[in-house]
Amino acid sequence: MVTSRYDRQLKIEQIGSKGQANLEKSNVLVIGVGGLGSFVASELVKAGVGSITLVDFDQVELTNLHRQNLYTEDDVKNGLGKLEAMKQHLQAANSNVKINTIEQKYSSELITDQYQLVVDCTDNFPVKYQINRDCFQKDLPHIFATCAGNQGQAMFMNSTDDACLECLYPQQDIAKLGLSANIGTNPMIVAITGSLEASMAMKFLTRPEKVVPAKLMVVDNWNFDFRKIGVHVSSNCPLHGGNK
Ligand SMILES: [Zn+2]
Repeated sequence: MVTSRYDRQLKIEQIGSKGQANLEKSNVLVIGVGGLGSFVASELVKAGVGSITLVDFDQVELTNLHRQNLYTEDDVKNGLGKLEAMKQHLQAANSNVKINTIEQKYSSELITDQYQLVVDCTDNFPVKYQINRDCFQKDLPHIFATCAGNQGQAMFMNSTDDACLECLYPQQDIAKLGLSANIGTNPMIVAITGSLEASMAMKFLTRPEKVVPAKLMVVDNWNFDFRKIGVHVSSNCPLHGGNK
């Protein structure tokens, strides 16, 4: 008897064969395959997502290896781009998944309704706000996440009825948010936060009818503090009809 490679996840009551079939029909856009994107892409490909499109433009560098899953010293020595290296590693893990790569910086034209879900794995807040705006305008589900220091955050937004990134963090407050290049990044918070994004994606793609209102997950992996925070639509959010 041949056992499915997905045997263990099929046994999860909330996934089951129906959820797995939904996952295998899914088409997901992952923007950025650095720290967060490495985990999101590898988790979803190993779990059997139908099709995944990866967007990035960087080379693999030695300073990436402590936190960016799957990349190797050989990738650095061979001067590989992240997309080429990631596609090789992912396809070796699961040849059933269709993996597309787009080598460019983020642009709004990437957001189309061929995808069921957009996963923001960038480390750049101006780009995050643009992804948020583009997904809002296309009413496309998307997942935001960021990590810096020992803290990670992730939030799933299903529709324009949900609070968005601008509801959560008004753009004028952006300067207060830490960026990983400045304050460093604990490698394990990247794994935890990337896995949270992948978990949100897994739940949505396997059982889209079970979506829940936007909740922000905030994790600190030094004080071991995990919080789930309800986020409401803000009357000041320009996307939700507030002051521009
Ligand atoms: Zn909003």
